[in-house]
Amino acid sequence: MQAEARFQRNMIKLENKLNYLKKTLQSNFSPNQKEWIQNHLMTFNKLYETLQKNSSNSESLEKISEDLYHNVRKAKRRVLYWIKFKSRDIDTFRTLRKEKGETWIPIVDLIDPPPRIHEIQNTHLWDLSFPCMSYTNEELCQFTEMIFKEQNLLSEFNISSDKFGIVVKKICAEYNAPAYHNFSHGFNVFQMFYALVKKTELESALDKVEKFATLIAALGHDMNHRGYNNAYESKLKTKTALTYYDTAILENMHASFIIKILKDPDIEFFNSLPDVTKQTQFRDLIIAVILATDMSKHFKLLKKFSAGVQATMEYRKLKSSDQPVDKYLEDNAFIMDRPQDKRRILKNIIHACDIGNPCQKYENYIYWSTLVTQEFDYQAKKEEKRGIEVTQMFKYKDLPSFFNGQVFFSRNLVLPLWEQIAILFHGAAEAPQNLKMNLKRLEEDKIKANED
Ligand SMILES: [Zn+2]
Repeated sequence: MQAEARFQRNMIKLENKLNYLKKTLQSNFSPNQKEWIQNHLMTFNKLYETLQKNSSNSESLEKISEDLYHNVRKAKRRVLYWIKFKSRDIDTFRTLRKEKGETWIPIVDLIDPPPRIHEIQNTHLWDLSFPCMSYTNEELCQFTEMIFKEQNLLSEFNISSDKFGIVVKKICAEYNAPAYHNFSHGFNVFQMFYALVKKTELESALDKVEKFATLIAALGHDMNHRGYNNAYESKLKTKTALTYYDTAILENMHASFIIKILKDPDIEFFNSLPDVTKQTQFRDLIIAVILATDMSKHFKLLKKFSAGVQATMEYRKLKSSDQPVDKYLEDNAFIMDRPQDKRRILKNIIHACDIGNPCQKYENYIYWSTLVTQEFDYQAKKEEKRGIEVTQMFKYKDLPSFFNGQVFFSRNLVLPLWEQIAILFHGAAEAPQNLKMNLKRLEEDKIKANED
């Protein structure tokens, strides 16, 4: 494309973004936020008008319009965050789609978020089915701080509440608002892991660095997700796909985002850790658990984990009857005072929580599953529009097929993993039990849907 054409295209994009920013002024902002938007709009509009009248050569105009567009986009992102922060993600999703004139699949309107619990206490957050989707991003940030404080993690590392509050808000701000992979999902995985810590011996087995690293990794594990999967990024040869050589593209990107926030000079988070060894351990654990959320590694991870769980059971049996243990069992069993074994467990647990919706109460589970189905369907539509290979199985067909897909995913992918976790930690038994009950409900609902 010629510089002139690219300049004209930038001007159209700029006009749209500036109109959008102007429209947001009708939202409910604080006086300071309103002033910030007005001042920025004034500057942006002046520059835009100057560009319109200018007759310099096309190449320099293109460069200036590109820079201006970049700054307007940054401002829009900030304003969107202010709106998103005070809302539930489902409401932000609906508002954004309506503004674009886009619709969504019918099942999204069938299910409302579960009822809210008023006056949240620490113990509410120990529930695997805590209804996090019913709260605003601001409230979820408050619950995040409650969890870290309950685990004495801020006092342990001498982190002030203010500084930690900034970290949590920065993580929240780096989540977009697609149907499923939003901050509520990040919080859900984080809180589900925390519930497991409270229900099992993980609470006493993990040290403070392991707890902190895994909790923060879970919270930020899908930062900047745009609602498209690795294959989509790869097919479109996006910048992120090229950066990570088509390997665990999104997971690498999420991990790099969270590390960047923790390294921010205003936060200097790594300096709160006692020494370089702990800093390295902390960083490596964050990266390892986020990379383990890559679905393409699911079966490989599960196979290794199941072998480890089986070895652990035999190891424990022999140890309790004072019998000798061979090298295979010694090497492969999960022994809770060995950091490398805890790391193996944590990778599997965070992955299990990431696909753990079917282990929650039916009303929570089915709510999440409609949203993930919506996100997949949206990707398929985008693929069609962009003329790339369409992921056929992502297209939403009808209610019976939706239930079928859920049964398949829950029974064949989620259940085997959670059964292993429950063998290792009896306190987690509720998760596969919930899932089995949900499977029965899914079958019943499928029959009803077929009759309708
Ligand atoms: Zn996730």
